[in-house]
Amino acid sequence: MQTIDTYNFSGKKALIRVDFNVPLDDQFVITDDTRIRAALPTIRKVMAAGGSPVIMSHFGRPKAGPEDKYSMRHLVGHLSELLGVGVKLAPDCIGEEVKAMCHALQPGEVLLLENLRFHKGEEKGDVEMARQLAENGDCWVNDAFGTAHRAHASTAVMAQFFPNDKMFGYLIESELESLDKVLRNPQRPLTAIMGGAKVSTKITIIENLLDKVDNLILGGGMTFTFIKAKGGQIGNSLCEDDFLETALRIEETAKAKGVNIIMATDVVAADAFANDANTQVCPAGKIPEGWMGLDAGPDSIARFREVIAHSGTILWNGPVGVFEMEHFAAGSKAVGEAIVEATRKGGFSLVGGGDSVACVNQFGFADGVSYISTAGGALLEYLEGRDLPGVSAVRG
Ligand code: AMP
Repeated sequence: MQTIDTYNFSGKKALIRVDFNVPLDDQFVITDDTRIRAALPTIRKVMAAGGSPVIMSHFGRPKAGPEDKYSMRHLVGHLSELLGVGVKLAPDCIGEEVKAMCHALQPGEVLLLENLRFHKGEEKGDVEMARQLAENGDCWVNDAFGTAHRAHASTAVMAQFFPNDKMFGYLIESELESLDKVLRNPQRPLTAIMGGAKVSTKITIIENLLDKVDNLILGGGMTFTFIKAKGGQIGNSLCEDDFLETALRIEETAKAKGVNIIMATDVVAADAFANDANTQVCPAGKIPEGWMGLDAGPDSIARFREVIAHSGTILWNGPVGVFEMEHFAAGSKAVGEAIVEATRKGGFSLVGGGDSVACVNQFGFADGVSYISTAGGALLEYLEGRDLPGVSAVRG
């Protein structure tokens, strides 16, 4: 398999699929350029190696054909600034004129193609669209992990036109490397912390993780479905009654596989879903009528900390309380602190999934964890054990 470090880019036009789906304000100014910055190492590598990057991305959700609002022209200035070269903009992503522009590029010159989703064929995974995209260059570099779970023309289908000239960019490479450190060859013990609101959205991940982890910390709103299933009183806490059986099954499977499940023993309960509600600490299975568990209690926090402190690898997906409210943030803060501490002592930690990333950023732990994945849907599907088309297209 080719890699971006071994491939010879000299004189080649490299078609780089990136994720430039950045937010803009109403003046078309980029409000968060994280995704653009994340792709820079790959683009710079191609330039430095004597190639010409041809950058392709989707941007927003255009409905039927070109829409100025979703034109890449809003991004070209900022990209030029970041790269320190004048990036050219193509009027489309396929067609004779675009192909001619691509082929005329000199080493080190950069071309940004117009929004891929201006053509229906992109999301349909149309082979003809993929063929036309492929005609624009000599090799395909997939660096868009955020869309790796989609079999779109540019994210997977065009791989067939580059059997020997396809590779990952640095961003996908590092995502996969980090995920493999957790899912394939973890330093043991491996602990996953699954939190968040609902168990229903996390079942497949939990089931997949039961084959891999030593410890599974279950926190947040989803815990109450487990506690109720075992006969606990959960008051007004979040609960999914359709998943009581599932919760019991998960616990049985964990036991059979020798996975240690750690759940809240006590909680901070509130008499309303509000930061200024009255609160009390009570046993997780004895929450009074009218009260709801909104955070892990001190006893639970101590147990979570203990397990995390003795872990070689830690995966964190989902807060263990309503961290957005100051009075119910202690549990998630403590989990973050314990992860940072375990990482400092040589453990490997990966944080992924929207809310845990927000949590880590909010509490300033971002520098203390090994890797933060921002991939959203693609990450969740990978954790579920599913094949990602954008990954298999390069590896397969
Ligand atoms: P998810 O998107 O499923 O990861 O859920 C994240 C959300 O779960 C966050 O907005 C948290 O505020 C919320 N959450 C965590 N713990 C609880 C809880 N005990 N009760 C209600 N919501 C919770």
